[in-house]
Amino acid sequence: MDILEAEVGNIVPLELIEQQLKSKSYKLLTFTHVDTSTAVLNDAKSIGALGKKYNVLTILDGVCSVAGEEIKQEDWGIDVVLTASQKAIGVPPGLALLVASKNAMQTFEQRTSPVANYYGDWTNWLPIMKAYENRQASYFGTPAVNLVIALEKSLQLILKEGLDSRFDRHRRAGKAMRAAIKALGLDLLSKNEQVSANTLSAPLYPNLMDTASFLKAVNQEGVILAGGLLPQLKNSYFRIGHMGSVNKNDLLATVGAIESALKNNGYSHELGLGTAQILKHF
Ligand SMILES: *Cc1c(COP(=O)(O)O)cnc(C)c1O
Repeated sequence: MDILEAEVGNIVPLELIEQQLKSKSYKLLTFTHVDTSTAVLNDAKSIGALGKKYNVLTILDGVCSVAGEEIKQEDWGIDVVLTASQKAIGVPPGLALLVASKNAMQTFEQRTSPVANYYGDWTNWLPIMKAYENRQASYFGTPAVNLVIALEKSLQLILKEGLDSRFDRHRRAGKAMRAAIKALGLDLLSKNEQVSANTLSAPLYPNLMDTASFLKAVNQEGVILAGGLLPQLKNSYFRIGHMGSVNKNDLLATVGAIESALKNNGYSHELGLGTAQILKHF
């Protein structure tokens, strides 16, 4: 296994991925669509095309992107898209969801070594899925039926909004949040608009901010933000989720809370510059 690492806030350049694929024969290429720790968005379409060009299976970790960022799995030639129920799909945690291409299924069928994980082994699940498609009863393990019902409801809501509208809403939320952060004079961890995720943002703290006190002040306004995640930069930035059912009012409340908390923690800025950006985009 070879790992290509990007500089913090950026993606691995496509040329480097291609160079690596050229250097020897690989079976698969796996990548994270939205990196939750830095709010960086990978170019899934181009990576899918590279996978096709070099005949490598592609696997997209879409836990922080599915139902928020646009993914055209078949058009882009991505073999496996996997996600979980609890992020942009908006269902309580507990379901692992994936869609596999015919190519991925065939590769799995030709597999000679056993899968090391019992519950995650497709050999156990495929007969159940096939029986389900044929409306026949079959059993491997009791599914989390309450979550499956919640998922059905959420998928109905997602389709009611329409995928294009939903992706557009996320793009606007991302753009508005980044513009608001910049209007307050803060920088973002992501290097530029092109590599910035639309499901969350990662602003850098101003110098000398008491980060714990800032997050607590935001929390007291009824808004929950996440701290930094990357070990080496943990205390230099925070994260704002804006995925799923997030609307204009949520964004206004969030930016308003950030503005107050910054001010109360000694950062001087003109109140209202951030919220104005949200209003501009919505
Ligand atoms: C949240 C997240 C995960 C972890 O999901 P769990 O269900 O907590 O295991 C993995 N990958 C990405 C990209 C995520 O955003």
